[in-house]
Amino acid sequence: MIELSGLRKYVHDGAARLEADIKFIDMPVACPAETIYFEVDEDCDFVFSTDTYDAFVLVGLYLAMYYHTDLRIHGNISKKLYKNLTWYIQKILCDFSDKLTPAKIFVDGFATLIPSGNVIGAGISCGVDSFSTIYDRFVREDDPDYKINALFIFNCGSHGGFGEPHTQITFKSRVKRALAVADELDLPLVVVDSNLHQFRDEENKNTVLFLSFYSCMLSMQNIIRRYYYSSACSYQSIKKFGRKPRHYDLAIFCDSYLLPLIQTERTELIIDGCQYRRVDKVKNISDWDIAQKYLNVCLIQKGADSTNCGKCSKCLRTLLTLEILGKLENFSNIFDVEAYKKDADNYKVHSLMHLDEEIFLKENVDLANEMNFPMPVKHNCYVLDNRVMIVEQ
Ligand SMILES: [Zn+2]
Repeated sequence: MIELSGLRKYVHDGAARLEADIKFIDMPVACPAETIYFEVDEDCDFVFSTDTYDAFVLVGLYLAMYYHTDLRIHGNISKKLYKNLTWYIQKILCDFSDKLTPAKIFVDGFATLIPSGNVIGAGISCGVDSFSTIYDRFVREDDPDYKINALFIFNCGSHGGFGEPHTQITFKSRVKRALAVADELDLPLVVVDSNLHQFRDEENKNTVLFLSFYSCMLSMQNIIRRYYYSSACSYQSIKKFGRKPRHYDLAIFCDSYLLPLIQTERTELIIDGCQYRRVDKVKNISDWDIAQKYLNVCLIQKGADSTNCGKCSKCLRTLLTLEILGKLENFSNIFDVEAYKKDADNYKVHSLMHLDEEIFLKENVDLANEMNFPMPVKHNCYVLDNRVMIVEQ
């Protein structure tokens, strides 16, 4: 049995913390930590709701399903979330991984949750997905019920492992960039720290990561009315490639239909971005001055240096999209475009060879066809020293 209890909020070293105890009872493995917590600046302590365990239940339930036991919550949760977890979400998770089995959730009761916040939030990673959401739902949106009015950044596993020194360095550099964007857009930025990534291991790293993102959003039900979560994939791509990341990438596998079930009576999570292919999102933001100044997709983290290397897989696919769109030079201040140009021919051939294996490669090849962009063809390629060379036309 996994137990959650002792929900509380307190101030600790200048930070406000929402915390609950977690215990593994009569289980063959030790619990990775004694508590789960979420933390914000002391001044922002009003964001946390202490009347419900909703922010703790997703990771607790996942662990119960993974270790084939039940979850006992010594307190209340949202009735809507409880029903969705029991009736639908567990089925989706079991379909995602053969290692998961259904678990019973025992609760003391249900929290009376009345919408109280007026925050329309969105995450800011400064990647393509988050910028496309912010561009559409802030810059181009006029309806105050749906226009973003606050940005969020979470430390729950996407910046590295818990307690690893480079994780805090990476997180701080991303917060700095997010703050610069928030200042330019005149939006508040809420920075949320947590220890949710203590509960992941190599095997379930990505699954716990996505559940942790959703948990951070649910921790702030006092202020959040709606929250846009930026998806990675289009509905179209999920239909074609959705089964491939089974066991591995929960977001690509199911976030388009999982996220709408992670709701409470107080807070609505909205999946945004599935209406676009990734290449369409790049096109969407390619003329936006903020994206041209702050876009950061690079997998190579170099501490405070925020330049995109131009050589890693995420830089290559983004720059190929920009090249096809004729917008490469618009981003030359933040990407090493010269490094990209050296690898571009190889990458184009790689994209053509593997387009049935990866969504984002196929989308670039499709975009090239749509834009009549000349991709390499067999009769004008040859290989020299493991590099593809193109015969000039
Ligand atoms: Zn890179």
